Amino acid sequence: MKKLTIGAAIVSAVLAVGCGDDSAKDAGVAETKPAQTDQAQMNNNDGAKDSKDSASTGGNPFFEQWDTPFGMPPFDKIKDEHYGPAFEKAIAEARAEMDAIANNPEAPTFENTIEAMEYSGKLLTKVSSVFFNLTSANTNPKLQEIQKDVGPKLSAFRDDISLNPKLFERVEAVYQQRNELGLREDQMRLLEDNYKSFVRGGAKLNEEQKQQLRDFNKEMTELALAFSENVLAETNNWEMVIDNEEDLAGLPQGLIDAAADTAKKRGHEGKWVFTTHRPSKTPFLMYSEKPELRAKMYHGYTHRGDNDNANDNKEIAAKLAKLRAKKAQLLGYNTHADFVLEERTAKNAENVYELLNQVWPAALEQAKAERALMQEQIEKEGKDFKLKASDWRYYAAKVRNEKYALDEEAVKPYFSLESTLQGVFYTANRLFGMNFKERFDLPKYHDDVRTFEVTDNDGELIGIFLTDHYVRDGKRGGAWMNSYRKQFVTEDGEFVKPIIVNVLNYPRPVGDEPTLLTFDQASTLFHEFGHAAHGLLSDGVYPSQTGTSVPRDFVEFPSQVLENWMLEPEVLAQFAKHYKTGEVIPQELIDKIQAASKFNQGFATTEYMAAALLDMAWHTLDGKELKDANAFEKATLDKLGLIPEIAPRYRTTYFNHIFSSASGGYSAGYYSYIWSEIFAADAYQAFRENGIFDKETAKKYKKYILSSGGTQDPIELYKKFRGKEADPKYLMISRGLIEADESK
Ligand SMILES: [Zn+2]
Repeated sequence: MKKLTIGAAIVSAVLAVGCGDDSAKDAGVAETKPAQTDQAQMNNNDGAKDSKDSASTGGNPFFEQWDTPFGMPPFDKIKDEHYGPAFEKAIAEARAEMDAIANNPEAPTFENTIEAMEYSGKLLTKVSSVFFNLTSANTNPKLQEIQKDVGPKLSAFRDDISLNPKLFERVEAVYQQRNELGLREDQMRLLEDNYKSFVRGGAKLNEEQKQQLRDFNKEMTELALAFSENVLAETNNWEMVIDNEEDLAGLPQGLIDAAADTAKKRGHEGKWVFTTHRPSKTPFLMYSEKPELRAKMYHGYTHRGDNDNANDNKEIAAKLAKLRAKKAQLLGYNTHADFVLEERTAKNAENVYELLNQVWPAALEQAKAERALMQEQIEKEGKDFKLKASDWRYYAAKVRNEKYALDEEAVKPYFSLESTLQGVFYTANRLFGMNFKERFDLPKYHDDVRTFEVTDNDGELIGIFLTDHYVRDGKRGGAWMNSYRKQFVTEDGEFVKPIIVNVLNYPRPVGDEPTLLTFDQASTLFHEFGHAAHGLLSDGVYPSQTGTSVPRDFVEFPSQVLENWMLEPEVLAQFAKHYKTGEVIPQELIDKIQAASKFNQGFATTEYMAAALLDMAWHTLDGKELKDANAFEKATLDKLGLIPEIAPRYRTTYFNHIFSSASGGYSAGYYSYIWSEIFAADAYQAFRENGIFDKETAKKYKKYILSSGGTQDPIELYKKFRGKEADPKYLMISRGLIEADESK
């Protein structure tokens, strides 16, 4: 993913590939960026500013050369109090380097401007890589405090770069001569991306326009913050208090216990409190046997930010959409979507709509078929009412159980964490020639971390792979990949090997019992390793282009595609063995899992796509004031023919992905999850056609996709791998929306 190529090494150090939107099936990309507050000010009065100042540098590992094996961060020596001074000095150094580039008396060249910027900020990269990894995986109040302080300083620094006219003048001068410079493909791309970043940041505007841009940015920052605070308040404020035990009918004991606990905390001791937080809401809708209570919960959840109270988000969303369009127009684009999509593999709104419109009718058809099955179920139970949106999850679970009778508990013994990890390593070895040797002598930030030395078949080091598998306090939820060090080549030609981590949240083993994974959890391990392979097998020069530094609608492709191997009998036979008996998982059980997983996909695809299309509708507006957000939403969804039993996964007033981030977040980008799947499904088709471990196919995949990162246009790279463009047909088949063509 690529956000800003200015001081790219600096920015990319704080980006992680995070996964997990709502379900394991649509993993996402997250940016671990520092929290930002408007109040915090730059503070240059403390911290180390001079490396010769022994009082402030003494003993700070960030100011020393790391002579650990593989240059691993010396986690055992890094203390919380080292980060503050390290950031102060790092930002000051990076700023001085940028100033030196801007004020260089020599004529601007690719080397003294573009490359110099790319390689600047080494200390900042060093400290950011460790810090932002740990604030996600192993944080504490002290680190959180530093994060709040450092966030605004980093963003101020980035603004200072992108609005520095002298710097832009030099970049533009190099850009004008780009065709005479004899640049390599990756260098040309680096130059173009740098130039574009400045232009997209407003570098070509006149002073009056620049001021207008700053005003827009400021107002959007405030609106986005208000939006997310409103969603949070609405989510926290709503509760459903139950005091009659009969009203708990159907709920699992764990959920009831949690509700009793919540009641106690909220001053309703002896009662039960349910909330619109996901762990409460989702199982309640799935299991509660009381239709009127399901309806109440559903209404509470889907009306967050839409209650005409102090936390209402309707006007804020409309204003944000308007300002984004205005900003895009100021920068020479028709709509915000045009501005955003220019940087993505989708390129423009037409292409996004073309895909979404291809998938939509089939998804909607299937959702209608699922609705009919559930209506049948209602009638079979001798009841006389029409299925409502609030009943969907309840009846979907019922139909699934009747039809497939899948017992998750019977599946788990075949997927112990250790054997599944071996399955991942087996697949990586067969496909990419990767070998894994566990090391016990390297510094680590927590006892849960395991460290693997990864080598190729000639014994040559590829990189270091860390795993951090278990849930614990101080780790945020979800699963993600990140790097402690990206692969790149230094100015002196030294090839730097990557240090990559996969962080997950699996339950800890209890007693002698190993951690056993559900099928989805096992699949996530393959998924995350797909990202890790992208980072480990990287083979590029410039840090802002290597590894997972690819557009947001492409980055999930390598992870999604790897999930496929887990389902292959040849791979399952290697690792999916009962942890007690060693018996390989029976094929019937696998078939059952797969059949059950296709059920309700019409619903899942439809609610996701409705949200993606709603996002596109908001961000293809032309900047005129919209009076009524709800009317706009309704008109959009009516036009699509969305059935009333399904709401978009996120309605406008709580669509945090697209409205809660000042920099835009997933705005005009919520389609990315399914877009990546086009590549994943089509790429796996290549392996199906040629053999799942076909050497030639794997070699091409590794070369053009995993190793190339963002060094070239991803679409061109994909064509080099596949020999043609990706065909969305295979995505439709993999989602069960159309039948596979038997003749092929
Ligand atoms: Zn992912």
